Amino acid sequence: MIKKECLDTGIKPNWCPGCGNFGIWLALKQALTELDIKHEEVVVVCGIGCHGHMCNFVKTYSFEGLHGRPIPVAEGVKLANKGLKVIVVAGDGDTYGEGLNHFLMGVRGNHDITLLVHDNMIYGLTTGQTSPTSEKGRVSKSTPTGSIEVPVNPIALAIAQEGSFVARSWSADPKQLVGLIKAGITHRGFAHIDVLQNCATFNKINTVTWFKEHIYKLDEAGHDPTNREKAMLKALDLTKLGTGIFYQDKREAYDEGVPAEKGKALIDHDLENIDLTESYTQFV
Ligand code: SF4
Repeated sequence: MIKKECLDTGIKPNWCPGCGNFGIWLALKQALTELDIKHEEVVVVCGIGCHGHMCNFVKTYSFEGLHGRPIPVAEGVKLANKGLKVIVVAGDGDTYGEGLNHFLMGVRGNHDITLLVHDNMIYGLTTGQTSPTSEKGRVSKSTPTGSIEVPVNPIALAIAQEGSFVARSWSADPKQLVGLIKAGITHRGFAHIDVLQNCATFNKINTVTWFKEHIYKLDEAGHDPTNREKAMLKALDLTKLGTGIFYQDKREAYDEGVPAEKGKALIDHDLENIDLTESYTQFV
Protein backbone atom coordinates (compact mmCIF):
# COMPACT_ATOMS: atom_id res chain seq x y z
CA MET A 1 0.00 0.00 0.00
CA ILE A 2 1.39 3.42 -0.86
CA LYS A 3 1.75 5.82 2.02
CA LYS A 4 0.29 9.30 1.95
CA GLU A 5 3.75 10.81 2.46
CA CYS A 6 4.85 9.10 -0.77
CA LEU A 7 2.48 11.38 -2.64
CA ASP A 8 4.25 14.48 -1.34
CA THR A 9 6.59 16.21 -3.74
CA GLY A 10 8.41 18.07 -0.98
CA ILE A 11 7.09 21.39 -2.30
CA LYS A 12 4.95 23.22 0.25
CA PRO A 13 1.67 24.63 -1.09
CA ASN A 14 1.72 28.40 -1.46
CA TRP A 15 -2.02 28.80 -0.87
CA CYS A 16 -3.21 31.43 1.63
CA PRO A 17 -3.64 30.23 5.23
CA GLY A 18 -7.18 28.94 5.71
CA CYS A 19 -7.79 28.28 1.99
CA GLY A 20 -10.15 25.38 1.19
CA ASN A 21 -7.61 24.07 -1.32
CA PHE A 22 -5.74 22.40 1.55
CA GLY A 23 -8.71 20.20 2.41
CA ILE A 24 -9.11 19.02 -1.18
CA TRP A 25 -5.38 18.37 -1.54
CA LEU A 26 -5.29 16.24 1.62
CA ALA A 27 -8.49 14.40 0.66
CA LEU A 28 -7.13 13.55 -2.80
CA LYS A 29 -3.94 12.11 -1.34
CA GLN A 30 -5.92 10.18 1.26
CA ALA A 31 -8.24 8.74 -1.39
CA LEU A 32 -5.33 7.64 -3.62
CA THR A 33 -3.66 6.05 -0.59
CA GLU A 34 -6.77 4.16 0.48
CA LEU A 35 -7.35 2.93 -3.07
CA ASP A 36 -3.69 1.84 -3.13
CA ILE A 37 -3.11 3.25 -6.59
CA LYS A 38 0.50 3.47 -7.70
CA HIS A 39 1.97 6.87 -8.54
CA GLU A 40 2.61 5.86 -12.12
CA GLU A 41 -1.01 4.86 -12.63
CA VAL A 42 -2.36 8.35 -11.89
CA VAL A 43 -2.39 11.48 -14.03
CA VAL A 44 -3.59 14.71 -12.45
CA VAL A 45 -4.57 17.34 -15.02
CA CYS A 46 -4.98 20.85 -13.65
CA GLY A 47 -6.55 23.98 -15.04
CA ILE A 48 -5.56 27.53 -14.26
CA GLY A 49 -6.28 29.07 -10.89
CA CYS A 50 -4.96 28.74 -7.36
CA HIS A 51 -6.04 25.09 -7.44
CA GLY A 52 -3.85 24.55 -10.52
CA HIS A 53 -0.71 24.58 -8.41
CA MET A 54 -1.85 21.18 -7.13
CA CYS A 55 0.20 19.64 -9.95
CA ASN A 56 3.30 20.63 -8.01
CA PHE A 57 2.12 19.18 -4.72
CA VAL A 58 1.04 15.64 -5.62
CA LYS A 59 3.63 13.14 -6.74
CA THR A 60 1.91 11.59 -9.73
CA TYR A 61 2.14 12.28 -13.44
CA SER A 62 0.61 15.70 -13.93
CA PHE A 63 -0.15 18.35 -16.51
CA GLU A 64 -1.16 21.97 -16.02
CA GLY A 65 -2.95 23.18 -19.11
CA LEU A 66 -4.74 26.20 -20.45
CA HIS A 67 -7.54 27.97 -18.61
CA GLY A 68 -10.76 26.03 -19.06
CA ARG A 69 -9.12 23.17 -20.99
CA PRO A 70 -8.10 20.45 -18.51
CA ILE A 71 -11.11 18.25 -19.34
CA PRO A 72 -10.26 17.64 -23.04
CA VAL A 73 -6.62 17.07 -22.12
CA ALA A 74 -7.70 14.47 -19.57
CA GLU A 75 -10.02 12.82 -22.10
CA GLY A 76 -7.11 12.52 -24.52
CA VAL A 77 -4.88 10.99 -21.86
CA LYS A 78 -7.52 8.43 -20.99
CA LEU A 79 -8.17 7.49 -24.62
CA ALA A 80 -4.45 7.05 -25.20
CA ASN A 81 -3.96 4.85 -22.18
CA LYS A 82 -7.06 3.58 -20.48
CA GLY A 83 -5.05 1.82 -17.80
CA LEU A 84 -4.52 5.19 -16.15
CA LYS A 85 -6.68 6.85 -13.51
CA VAL A 86 -7.13 10.38 -14.80
CA ILE A 87 -8.16 13.10 -12.36
CA VAL A 88 -8.98 16.65 -13.35
CA VAL A 89 -8.40 19.34 -10.75
CA ALA A 90 -10.13 22.49 -11.94
CA GLY A 91 -11.81 25.64 -10.67
CA ASP A 92 -15.32 27.03 -10.95
CA GLY A 93 -14.20 29.66 -13.46
CA ASP A 94 -12.19 27.04 -15.33
CA THR A 95 -15.02 24.53 -15.55
CA TYR A 96 -18.25 26.51 -15.58
CA GLY A 97 -16.97 29.62 -17.37
CA GLU A 98 -14.13 29.26 -19.88
CA GLY A 99 -14.55 25.49 -20.07
CA LEU A 100 -18.31 25.06 -19.78
CA ASN A 101 -18.63 23.48 -23.20
CA HIS A 102 -15.88 20.99 -22.36
CA PHE A 103 -17.66 20.19 -19.11
CA LEU A 104 -20.95 19.43 -20.88
CA MET A 105 -19.23 17.41 -23.61
CA GLY A 106 -17.33 15.40 -21.01
CA VAL A 107 -20.49 14.62 -19.06
CA ARG A 108 -22.41 13.86 -22.25
CA GLY A 109 -19.71 11.56 -23.60
CA ASN A 110 -19.29 9.86 -20.22
CA HIS A 111 -15.51 9.98 -20.53
CA ASP A 112 -13.93 7.85 -17.84
CA ILE A 113 -12.30 10.59 -15.79
CA THR A 114 -12.84 12.12 -12.35
CA LEU A 115 -13.42 15.86 -12.13
CA LEU A 116 -12.82 17.73 -8.88
CA VAL A 117 -14.08 21.28 -9.18
CA HIS A 118 -12.66 23.67 -6.59
CA ASP A 119 -15.81 25.76 -6.36
CA ASN A 120 -15.05 28.86 -4.27
CA MET A 121 -17.56 31.04 -6.14
CA ILE A 122 -14.92 33.61 -7.06
CA TYR A 123 -11.84 34.02 -9.25
CA GLY A 124 -9.17 33.76 -6.54
CA LEU A 125 -5.90 33.77 -8.49
CA THR A 126 -6.78 37.02 -10.23
CA THR A 127 -7.70 38.61 -6.87
CA GLY A 128 -11.43 38.30 -6.56
CA GLN A 129 -13.67 38.74 -9.58
CA THR A 130 -17.24 37.40 -9.91
CA SER A 131 -17.21 33.80 -11.16
CA PRO A 132 -19.91 31.70 -12.87
CA THR A 133 -21.09 30.34 -9.50
CA SER A 134 -21.15 33.69 -7.66
CA GLU A 135 -24.67 34.69 -6.65
CA LYS A 136 -26.68 37.22 -8.67
CA GLY A 137 -25.90 40.71 -7.43
CA ARG A 138 -22.33 39.90 -6.34
CA VAL A 139 -20.32 43.08 -6.03
CA SER A 140 -16.69 42.56 -6.98
CA LYS A 141 -13.89 44.16 -8.98
CA SER A 142 -15.45 42.86 -12.20
CA THR A 143 -19.06 43.69 -11.26
CA PRO A 144 -18.84 46.88 -9.17
CA THR A 145 -22.60 47.48 -9.37
CA GLY A 146 -23.51 43.83 -8.82
CA SER A 147 -23.54 40.89 -11.22
CA ILE A 148 -26.54 40.70 -13.54
CA GLU A 149 -26.51 36.98 -14.37
CA VAL A 150 -27.96 34.19 -12.27
CA PRO A 151 -25.29 31.66 -11.24
CA VAL A 152 -24.53 28.51 -13.21
CA ASN A 153 -26.09 25.46 -11.54
CA PRO A 154 -23.44 22.79 -12.22
CA ILE A 155 -25.28 19.93 -10.54
CA ALA A 156 -28.48 20.55 -12.49
CA LEU A 157 -26.50 20.87 -15.74
CA ALA A 158 -24.73 17.56 -15.15
CA ILE A 159 -27.95 15.72 -14.30
CA ALA A 160 -29.74 17.24 -17.31
CA GLN A 161 -26.89 16.06 -19.53
CA GLU A 162 -27.23 12.49 -18.23
CA GLY A 163 -24.21 12.62 -15.93
CA SER A 164 -23.50 9.14 -14.64
CA PHE A 165 -21.94 10.33 -11.34
CA VAL A 166 -22.98 13.72 -10.03
CA ALA A 167 -21.88 14.75 -6.56
CA ARG A 168 -21.04 17.70 -4.37
CA SER A 169 -18.90 17.92 -1.27
CA TRP A 170 -17.21 20.47 0.96
CA SER A 171 -13.49 20.92 1.47
CA ALA A 172 -13.97 20.99 5.25
CA ASP A 173 -15.70 17.60 5.35
CA PRO A 174 -12.75 15.23 4.83
CA LYS A 175 -14.64 12.03 5.59
CA GLN A 176 -17.30 12.67 2.98
CA LEU A 177 -14.86 14.13 0.46
CA VAL A 178 -12.40 11.22 0.63
CA GLY A 179 -15.29 8.78 0.20
CA LEU A 180 -16.66 10.65 -2.80
CA ILE A 181 -13.25 10.92 -4.48
CA LYS A 182 -12.75 7.18 -4.04
CA ALA A 183 -16.23 6.48 -5.39
CA GLY A 184 -15.59 8.83 -8.31
CA ILE A 185 -12.28 7.21 -9.23
CA THR A 186 -13.75 3.71 -9.14
CA HIS A 187 -16.86 4.79 -11.08
CA ARG A 188 -16.64 3.79 -14.76
CA GLY A 189 -17.50 7.00 -16.57
CA PHE A 190 -17.44 10.74 -15.95
CA ALA A 191 -17.43 11.43 -12.21
CA HIS A 192 -18.28 15.04 -11.47
CA ILE A 193 -17.60 16.21 -7.92
CA ASP A 194 -18.27 19.87 -7.27
CA VAL A 195 -16.29 20.68 -4.11
CA LEU A 196 -17.45 23.77 -2.26
CA GLN A 197 -14.52 25.59 -0.72
CA ASN A 198 -13.78 28.96 0.81
CA CYS A 199 -11.39 31.50 -0.63
CA ALA A 200 -10.16 32.95 2.65
CA THR A 201 -8.63 36.04 1.07
CA PHE A 202 -11.07 37.28 -1.58
CA ASN A 203 -14.49 35.79 -0.88
CA LYS A 204 -15.84 37.32 2.30
CA ILE A 205 -19.38 36.08 1.62
CA ASN A 206 -19.05 32.31 1.12
CA THR A 207 -17.01 31.74 4.26
CA VAL A 208 -16.69 28.61 6.36
CA THR A 209 -19.52 29.92 8.54
CA TRP A 210 -21.67 30.55 5.45
CA PHE A 211 -21.12 27.00 4.20
CA LYS A 212 -21.99 25.56 7.61
CA GLU A 213 -25.29 27.41 7.46
CA HIS A 214 -26.11 26.54 3.85
CA ILE A 215 -25.21 22.90 3.32
CA TYR A 216 -26.84 19.63 4.33
CA LYS A 217 -26.08 15.97 3.66
CA LEU A 218 -28.24 14.29 1.06
CA ASP A 219 -28.02 10.84 2.65
CA GLU A 220 -29.15 12.18 6.02
CA ALA A 221 -32.14 13.73 4.22
CA GLY A 222 -33.04 10.29 2.82
CA HIS A 223 -32.10 11.08 -0.79
CA ASP A 224 -32.06 8.14 -3.22
CA PRO A 225 -29.13 8.65 -5.67
CA THR A 226 -30.69 6.29 -8.22
CA ASN A 227 -33.70 8.57 -8.71
CA ARG A 228 -32.85 11.08 -11.44
CA GLU A 229 -36.01 13.18 -11.14
CA LYS A 230 -35.58 13.63 -7.40
CA ALA A 231 -31.88 14.37 -7.91
CA MET A 232 -32.83 17.17 -10.29
CA LEU A 233 -35.32 18.61 -7.81
CA LYS A 234 -32.61 18.61 -5.13
CA ALA A 235 -30.19 20.28 -7.53
CA LEU A 236 -32.69 23.02 -8.40
CA ASP A 237 -33.44 23.81 -4.76
CA LEU A 238 -30.85 26.48 -3.95
CA THR A 239 -32.24 27.42 -0.54
CA LYS A 240 -29.81 24.82 0.86
CA LEU A 241 -26.96 23.05 -0.92
CA GLY A 242 -26.98 19.26 -0.69
CA THR A 243 -23.70 17.37 -0.40
CA GLY A 244 -23.15 13.73 -1.30
CA ILE A 245 -24.13 11.82 -4.44
CA PHE A 246 -27.07 13.41 -6.26
CA TYR A 247 -27.22 10.81 -8.99
CA GLN A 248 -25.27 7.74 -10.10
CA ASP A 249 -26.00 5.40 -12.94
CA LYS A 250 -24.23 2.92 -15.20
CA ARG A 251 -23.91 3.68 -18.86
CA GLU A 252 -21.33 3.06 -21.56
CA ALA A 253 -18.11 5.00 -21.05
CA TYR A 254 -16.80 6.88 -24.07
CA ASP A 255 -13.81 4.61 -24.71
CA GLU A 256 -16.09 1.57 -24.76
CA GLY A 257 -17.85 3.04 -27.76
CA VAL A 258 -14.75 3.99 -29.80
CA PRO A 259 -14.14 1.23 -32.38
CA ALA A 260 -10.35 1.63 -32.29
CA GLU A 261 -10.38 1.41 -28.51
CA LYS A 262 -12.27 -1.85 -28.31
CA GLY A 263 -9.90 -4.46 -27.04
CA LYS A 264 -6.84 -2.28 -26.65
CA ALA A 265 -5.79 1.26 -25.83
CA LEU A 266 -4.24 3.61 -28.39
CA ILE A 267 -0.78 3.10 -26.89
CA ASP A 268 -1.05 -0.60 -27.69
CA HIS A 269 -1.76 -0.14 -31.38
CA ASP A 270 0.93 -0.85 -33.96
CA LEU A 271 1.64 2.63 -35.28
CA GLU A 272 4.37 1.40 -37.64
CA ASN A 273 2.16 -0.63 -39.93
CA ILE A 274 -0.94 1.48 -40.46
CA ASP A 275 -2.24 1.47 -44.03
CA LEU A 276 -3.15 5.09 -44.86
CA THR A 277 -3.80 4.46 -48.57
CA GLU A 278 -7.55 4.93 -48.29
CA SER A 279 -7.16 8.21 -46.35
CA TYR A 280 -4.65 9.56 -48.87
CA THR A 281 -6.93 8.63 -51.73
CA GLN A 282 -9.88 10.38 -50.14
CA PHE A 283 -8.27 13.51 -48.68
CA VAL A 284 -4.97 14.29 -50.43
FE1 SF4 B 1 -7.05 30.10 -1.74
FE2 SF4 B 1 -8.27 32.39 -2.32
FE3 SF4 B 1 -5.74 32.39 -1.50
FE4 SF4 B 1 -6.36 31.45 -3.90
S1 SF4 B 1 -6.59 33.57 -3.21
S2 SF4 B 1 -4.96 30.49 -2.43
S3 SF4 B 1 -8.34 30.48 -3.53
S4 SF4 B 1 -7.51 31.76 -0.30
